[in-house]
This record gives sequence, structure tokens and C-alpha cells, in this order.
Amino acid sequence: MRANVTYWLDQTADRLPDKTAFADERKEITFGELKAQAQALATRMLERGLFKKPVAVYLEKGVDVLTSFMGAAYSCNFYSPIDTEMPASRVDKILEVLKPALVITTAALRETFARYAYQGEYLIFEEAVRTPADGQLIDAARAKGIDTDLLYVLFTSGSTGIPKGVTINHRSVIDYIDWVTETFDITQADTFGNQAPFYFDNSILDIYSTIKSGATTWIIPKNLFAQPVPLLEYLKEKKINTIFWVPSALIVVAKLKAFRNVDLSDTLHRVLFCGEVMPNKQLNVWRKFLPDVLYANLYGPTEITDACTYYIVDREFADDEPLPIGIPMANTDILVLNEREEPVVGDEVGELCVRGTSLSMGYYNNPEKTREAFVQNPLNPHVPELIYRTGDLVRYNEHGEIIYLSRKDFQIKHMGHRIELGEIETAVSSLEEIALCCCLYDEKHQKIVLFIEAELDKAYINERIAKLVPEYMLPNKVVTLSEMPINANGKIDRVKLKEYL
Ligand code: AMP
Repeated sequence: MRANVTYWLDQTADRLPDKTAFADERKEITFGELKAQAQALATRMLERGLFKKPVAVYLEKGVDVLTSFMGAAYSCNFYSPIDTEMPASRVDKILEVLKPALVITTAALRETFARYAYQGEYLIFEEAVRTPADGQLIDAARAKGIDTDLLYVLFTSGSTGIPKGVTINHRSVIDYIDWVTETFDITQADTFGNQAPFYFDNSILDIYSTIKSGATTWIIPKNLFAQPVPLLEYLKEKKINTIFWVPSALIVVAKLKAFRNVDLSDTLHRVLFCGEVMPNKQLNVWRKFLPDVLYANLYGPTEITDACTYYIVDREFADDEPLPIGIPMANTDILVLNEREEPVVGDEVGELCVRGTSLSMGYYNNPEKTREAFVQNPLNPHVPELIYRTGDLVRYNEHGEIIYLSRKDFQIKHMGHRIELGEIETAVSSLEEIALCCCLYDEKHQKIVLFIEAELDKAYINERIAKLVPEYMLPNKVVTLSEMPINANGKIDRVKLKEYL
């Protein structure tokens, strides 16, 4: 039994030492090099006595981040990527929750990191990867590790302004990637085009399918996602045959009909997507230009290891029909519960809840939020068993497939990013001039709309809160009201506010 994802890398590096594993604009790394460098990092961590400890990876997106992840995994520590573009105050909050035992970074980025309250140890990437590895030390550590030890912590938006650290163990990733590689028949002949940032769980599919099967992943430069024609040219040039992107990235390509300029029919074989609603209107454009591609809609939150249901597109849909999120993945149970905590009947609406190996171990250092979302299975009074409540409202269609409807709470998806509107409100409320504020999402125009009582404009507000929240959370529209509507319970009347959208 293999309890650590790095056994996949051992096998693939033995089988295909000289094949490119990952490549970015500056660098390509083979499986052999990846193993050697990751083991060098792991050795340095183990020599410092670090075992089952949180390791922050503070590097620009690229091959080196993945080498660092594998280094943490080889040493049985667990990694958490810290986005170098994230505002400093948010990084502060993440560090407060994570309390890393070590930070992997470059000599140059270490200077930037010095602004944070962190007092712990550093591993300078470019120096450490050149040092010798101690395979015996690593094997001894892995022999003590078990598959429910943590592999990573990914931070998502938190409604109170404190990001939540979703913890995932080795077993959950092993289970998920076994399913991915079997279902989509991923082999060493495949080439992925990675879009997802490494702090976003969609990247798990690209990273670990590559390591397990010996495929190759090209890390696509971020700026290409704003230029559909060069983006498709890149896919063609690198012979990318599989992509797993957020729908927002697919929609940009469909809107500009970039397919007219670049023909991918010989190279692109699989288009998988996950993370938000994929409108059939835009999927139909893809299907028209690339009819032979396999399309699959995957669904799931970070808390259940990327995805828990899937739908392989197998029939025609009108532009205004919803695309199903489908059926449960293997070894995953989906419960759709109504307000009485009973399984829904027929096409009744209920909350999608998940049971199984894929479940996160909880939010790191946050027992309160963990207790709210991970609860005893109400259908099992016999033994302790947790389910994860996603907060997503769904129903079954006549084919027995699940249809996603909406959220129960104030979490939104904006350009593929998961955002708690409360996190933006907390940031805005911190401004001196603001007494009361409320954020809503205008689905139709895909805009974050901020309501305030003060006479302040968008540029002023955004300049100030840019220090607190990532750029993608900045309001797209600010509406000043003479008085905020209040409902019978004395709360801000969100229903009334919707009328202003
Ligand atoms: P994240 O944790 O960032 O992956 O976000 C998870 C949330 O994104 C889910 O709870 C859903 O609200 C939404 N989501 C993910 N995949 C899909 C999908 N295929 N269709 C509709 N919504 C989705």
C-alpha cells in the first residue's frame, strides 16, 4: 500500500526519467530532475527535524512551485502555496492561521517576505535544490507517514475576512487522481495545458495526473488568457491535448470565436472544466468548432478534493438549458438533503452534501468553521460519520443527473474565483468613512456591486481596499444610497437592494 503521492513520482521517474514533466516560460523539468530536486528539498527539511509540519511555498507561479510541493510531500510535511501577488494584509492573515514551520522561497523573494511577521526558517530554493538528497532519510520518513496525513492546505475566501485553510490528505488525492486517470484514460502520451493557479484546487488534476501517468503539463502564461488567438496558437504549438480550465477561461475563447483563426481539431482531445457554471451558450460554440472533443463538466468545492460529481457531455443542449453537473464520482456518495434533513424526492430542491474519502480533514486551526461545514450524517444515527455541506442548492433531472441551481449563502463565483461577499464587506467596513455597506453579485452582468451610504467613488474605495483583498475581489460598481434599506429583522434588506442592480 502506498500512503504518499510521491511514490507515483518514484515510479514515473524510474520509467520515464528524461521525459518533460512540467514546463513554464523559463524552464522545463524532467521527471528524473523533478525527483532529484524534490528529494534534495525534502532532505533539507528532514535534517532540520521538520516532519508533518506546515510549509509555505512563496514563489512565482512556475515549475519551481511544483518541485517545492513534491519536496514537502517527500518529507511528509504539508505545503501551502502563498500567492506572491496577494495583498500583504491577506498574507498576514494566512500566516497567522497556518503558522508555517518553514518558507520555501528564492533569495530575491525572501527580501519581500521579510515584511511579514514570520520569524521562522527559510529554505532558499535555488540553493537547496543543488544539494545532495538522502534517499534513506526520505524512505524512513515515508515509512512513518500514513495516508491520512496532510498533503496540502489551500486557502479560500472566508466570510469574516479570515481566509479558511482547507486541509487535504494524501489518500483523498490518491483516490481522486485514480478516478481522473481511469475515467479520462490519461497516459504518458497526454499533454495538459494548465490554467488554474496553484492556490486553486483545479490545479490538483493537472499536477497529480501528470505525476502519476507520466504525462506532460505546460503551465500557460497568465497573460495569454486575455488573448484568445495567441492562447489557441500556444495550445497548438505545444500539442496540448487536454485542458481543465474554469468556465470563465473557456467563455472568453468562445465569445471571440478564436477558433476561426486557429484549428485545434487535430490536437485537442479533452476539454474538462470545473469551478463555476458553464453556460451551454458558450459550450455550444466550442462544440460546433470542435465536435470530436470529449467535454466534461466536473463539479465540487476545495473541501472535497477538487470535484465530486461529473457529467461527460453526451447529448445536445439548447443555449438556455442548464448543463448537468451529473453523477457522483467513484467512491463518493452525494446526499441531496431538503430542509428537514431528508433525501429529496423527485425534483425537489436540496443542499448537495458529500460523504467519502475525498472529504477535507477540516479548516486548519479553525474548529468553529470546521464544525459548521463538516457535520454528522443525519441519515446515519449509528456511528460517527461526517458529511460536508457544500451550501449549493441542486435538484435531480429526469435522467437522474444533478442540476446545479444556486448558493444558499453569500458565496459567489466571479471570473472563476471563489469569493465570500462578506470578505469584501469586511474590507470596505474598515474604511473610516463607511458606516454601513453591503455587496451583491449581479449574475447577469457578472459584476460585484457595492452599496454604501457615503459619497465615495469606486476608484477611491478600490485604491484603499486593494491592500486588503485580491484584485479579483474589488467591486466593479459602487452605488451610493441616501439610506440603506433595512428589513423587519433589522438587517440590511438584500432583497430590496437587488432591485437596484
Ligand atoms: P472552489 O472551492 O473554489 O472549487 O468552489 C466551489 C464552488 O464552486 C462550489 O461549491 C459551487 O458553488 C461552484 N462550482 C464548482 N464547480 C461547479 C460547476 N461545475 N457548476 C456550477 N458551480 C460549480
